[in-house]
Amino acid sequence: MANSKFEYVKQFEQPDSLLPNTWIVVRIDGRGFTKFSAKHGFEKPNDKRALELMNAAARAVMAELPDITIAYGVSDEYSFVCHKTCALFERRSSKLVSTIVSTFTAYYVHFWPTYFPESPLSPPLPSFDGRAVCYPTVQNLRDYMSWRQVDCHINNLYNTTFWALIQLGGMDGTEAEKTLKGTYSADKNEILFSKFSINYNNEPEMFKKGSVVFRDYELVEPGTHNASMDADNLAEPIQQSKTQSENDRKRRAKARIVVEHLDIIKDDFWDRRPWLLS
Ligand code: ATP
Ligand code: ATP
Ligand code: MG
Ligand code: MG
Ligand code: MG
Ligand code: MG
Ligand code: MG
Repeated sequence: MANSKFEYVKQFEQPDSLLPNTWIVVRIDGRGFTKFSAKHGFEKPNDKRALELMNAAARAVMAELPDITIAYGVSDEYSFVCHKTCALFERRSSKLVSTIVSTFTAYYVHFWPTYFPESPLSPPLPSFDGRAVCYPTVQNLRDYMSWRQVDCHINNLYNTTFWALIQLGGMDGTEAEKTLKGTYSADKNEILFSKFSINYNNEPEMFKKGSVVFRDYELVEPGTHNASMDADNLAEPIQQSKTQSENDRKRRAKARIVVEHLDIIKDDFWDRRPWLLS
């Protein structure tokens, strides 16, 4: 680049590299989706097409960015997890967040007509915010994922009951809110079952559990191999060699990306897919 007397302004840029050797989570969230969902007539409490559109956009993001190992989505939000060894954009926060947000938004708009053919987009167009957070341990990362899935469960149970009281029970919003004030999970299950013959357990898995997007390798039978207990593994340096991570990258780029609605709080999901956290 040519030198000029203006070039000093570059030095005003602040470094924003994320802490090395930590799991990076980029969470994006739809801006003003309460209004946006009303404008396009999303079904309440859960519009299946809108969730599938979110999932399609998340899949596309993962296909374009092999550094992302797993993603979890619920409502108008998605969390993308980069492996702790990720070196993409030198781990610069603003680069990572802005690239994920804009790639996601672009695909959301691109796929929109497929999922909502009868409701074309018009301004205000959908947009998303984003942030990056570093988690130093696998336990912290798993607790983060559990936090989002518990949130999904609590909100969905509340919303399912709230909208049943309105749509099937003829209440208005204020009455439904009053009915649910101070209730526990068991009470909401009971209201759904006794008043509306709805067994919450039979609600769609996507609504109850959210969506997990990951690269599918061969499943490991639980108990057959525990990599973290291998003496060899413990002796390995923390930094992966260049070729190893390059191989991993290529393998990831080729793997099939799947969307499932599974429990990510319990160990089973992670035990069966050791490549996600190793
Ligand atoms: P903010 O800009 O602060 O995020 P917001 O209006 O998007 O504001 P959120 O807390 O993100 O607020 O809530 C998302 C809103 O979008 C909720 O009102 C939720 O009901 C609605 N929504 C998102 N996805 C769906 C869906 N698939 N079906 C029905 N409603 C949805
Ligand atoms: P990075 O992802 O690091 O930004 P990049 O390839 O986008 O990589 P930039 O430094 O952003 O690199 O440069 C943008 C490139 O796009 C340049 O090669 C520039 O010549 C080209 N480009 C951008 N806009 C135009 C345009 N309107 N007409 C022709 N070329 C363009
Ligand atoms: Mg928000
Ligand atoms: Mg939102
Ligand atoms: Mg939200
Ligand atoms: Mg440029
Ligand atoms: Mg560029």
